[in-house]
Amino acid sequence: MDTLWAPWRSSYVNAIGKSEENPEDKECVFCSAPNAARDIDRYIIHRGKMAFVILNLYPYSNGHLLVIPYQHVSDLSQLDSETHHEIMDLLVKGQAVLQQVYNPQGINIGANLGAAAGAGIDQHLHFHILPRWIADVNFMTAIGKTRVIPESLEESWEKIRAAW
Ligand SMILES: [Zn+2]
Repeated sequence: MDTLWAPWRSSYVNAIGKSEENPEDKECVFCSAPNAARDIDRYIIHRGKMAFVILNLYPYSNGHLLVIPYQHVSDLSQLDSETHHEIMDLLVKGQAVLQQVYNPQGINIGANLGAAAGAGIDQHLHFHILPRWIADVNFMTAIGKTRVIPESLEESWEKIRAAW
């Protein structure tokens, strides 16, 4: 692999984020999600004691779930071990439910810590559970930068909720 040195980019990279308003001032979507009057309003699948499960509003595929602690923290080390255990239990359950509902060929489970790692909302830790199919990064995704999600969030919510 070739390495292209581009040190002038470091000032640009460092400027990203600093120019944005303080994210602490904005209402956090993951903190506000459990306040939804009805679970369907925010596609809540399950409310646990320390964490909850919702549909990703911007799914990479049908059935894209998020497991989120109620606590607004950015790092795993800031959660107690009871919360760690419940998150793991919810990931295990989520995997089983998605397997049952969608019968995918694979499942991604993971968290992106920090914006540089790909976190869209890096202030509030969340885990993704994502059903995968071989060649699901298809022509439209690769060439058109457009994802094809055949199922509506309402349909996904009804199916997953019933299986949960
Ligand atoms: Zn939050």
